[in-house]
Amino acid sequence: MAVDSAISSPLGPPACEKDAKALRFIEEMTRNADSVQERVLSDILTQNSQTEYLRRFKLNRATDRDSFKSKLPVIAYEDLQPEIQRIANGDRSAILSAHPISEFLTSSGTSAGERKLMPTIKEELDRRQLLYSLLMPVMNLYVPGLDKGKGLYFLFVKSETRTPGGLLARPVLTSYYKSEHFKTRPYDPYNVYTSPNEAILCPDSFQSMYTQMLCGLQDRHQVLRVGAVFASGLLRAIRFLQLNWRQLSQDIETGTLNQKVTDPSLRECMGKILKPDPELARFVRHECSKESWEGIITRIWPNTKYLDVIVTGAMAQYIPTLDYYSGGLPKACTMYASSECYFGLNLNPMCKPSEVSYTIMPNMAYFEFLPHDPNSAGFTRDSPPKLVDLVDVEIGKEYELVITTYAGLCRYRVGDILRVTGFHNSAPQFHFVRRKNVLLSIDSDKTDEAELQKAVENASRLLREFNTSVVEYTSYADTKTIPGHYVIYWELLVKDAANSPTDDVLKQCCLAMEESMNSVYRQGRVADNSIGPLEIRVVKNGTFEELMDYAISRGASINQYKVPRCVNFTPIMELLDSRVVSTHFSPALPHWTPERRR
Ligand code: AMP
Repeated sequence: MAVDSAISSPLGPPACEKDAKALRFIEEMTRNADSVQERVLSDILTQNSQTEYLRRFKLNRATDRDSFKSKLPVIAYEDLQPEIQRIANGDRSAILSAHPISEFLTSSGTSAGERKLMPTIKEELDRRQLLYSLLMPVMNLYVPGLDKGKGLYFLFVKSETRTPGGLLARPVLTSYYKSEHFKTRPYDPYNVYTSPNEAILCPDSFQSMYTQMLCGLQDRHQVLRVGAVFASGLLRAIRFLQLNWRQLSQDIETGTLNQKVTDPSLRECMGKILKPDPELARFVRHECSKESWEGIITRIWPNTKYLDVIVTGAMAQYIPTLDYYSGGLPKACTMYASSECYFGLNLNPMCKPSEVSYTIMPNMAYFEFLPHDPNSAGFTRDSPPKLVDLVDVEIGKEYELVITTYAGLCRYRVGDILRVTGFHNSAPQFHFVRRKNVLLSIDSDKTDEAELQKAVENASRLLREFNTSVVEYTSYADTKTIPGHYVIYWELLVKDAANSPTDDVLKQCCLAMEESMNSVYRQGRVADNSIGPLEIRVVKNGTFEELMDYAISRGASINQYKVPRCVNFTPIMELLDSRVVSTHFSPALPHWTPERRR
């Protein structure tokens, strides 16, 4: 029931007093976006005025935009690597931030094959929490009654390490789930999860998923929304159910927990939750043993109103599969965030995925926008870029996001390309276009062209003794399998047909490519099981020439034609697949440990 219209918000009537406060906050921030930005920059520069970084650029305690913009360079992660390495090695002086660096957040973006390390400070947790607290008040405007049931969310922690200087390094969500903000969150009827904290916090991904699924099944009538952070994570949960429904129904029938769950605190917690329910066990067996899994989500959780998963950016490739399993339920993309900073939220979360726009919240950091010209070679010292402020971006234009954070990143290029779609009050709203330089992505992995090239080179060394070389290649992120996997098409030049590479050798090439991939890819393969074995499809000689002919027939210039290093256009896929002479899968897991190589 909506509260009194006296506290109604321009966004719509809030569901309760708490929501009214959150919606008022959104209004206030977005109405005063420019002054909030000015204050945020001044706060950050005041707080960090004595840091080594700001002193280096002789800001002399100035806190205004003009001084900041004229003195501070726009940078990328690599420019900060010496400072970050010093912090990681234990230097506790105020290098980037006046506040002590509390931990490193390990980004899924990589540098030299390892996850980027993002320094953070304690108070950033409050800022992240604040953004989270705005999501349900917005959702409640569109979906009534979410306080009458629960959310089935598949949430996981990942492994953490310590840097040589003793700081924790872990993904931002692991940091958040392990924080008191999450663990001791006050009861909120609009935010009740089926998964107990013990299940979310269990570091073993099988035990965590198993118990979260079990709780979700047991509460099936109460579940009003089903989600995971990314679409790929929700599909992994469905796959898990396909593989484990027999054991899960057994546990439901008897009210006892499978012995594979060994974590003592999780066993104890589940002991209090699990009750024998033979009727539910029969139902789960009946549904899961049907040949077709179409609409399985709504069959098992019939009261689900929407899926809460990100399907923008690289995750858009999963929309058809999610639609298949959910009978086309709405897919809500609620927020846009990163390890560096949480950016903003979707004020119209029930819109179609193609229409999703994120409103950047001006209180989160100081935001600038680098006009993005896909044809320009970039900028040089002689032609520095002209960055635009948050309120000055123009509808229809594309920009790269540049942030200045409380934790000490100054004019840092995030690498995301955004297009302005409109404004809410004076705060712009952005369509996420893509992340720069990402060729292939299945889950949180991001493989660029150079990484793929290196992987092909390394793998093709194994072909030398067969007098064989890779003359052309391209790639494809195959998400028809769960988990998805990389497919690499190879055209080979075999000089000695009597000694051509065997299936075994080509399998080893698959593994060699996987070994060359960055640590996020290898972690996905080894620890998270979020990426399947890499596949090489060898195509007939002349296939890539046909590909060129096809491109030219569609208007490409012969002189400028370049082999696309990644493909996903159906006619091209069909052409490639019709020329495949053999397929080979990686026979083993690549090497991965939580420890960093550097
Ligand atoms: P990480 O730092 O590993 O958490 O990755 C953050 C990156 O994930 C962002 O910079 C984006 O490229 C991507 N990302 C985060 N949220 C979204 C979203 N809602 N839609 C599309 N991409 C997103």
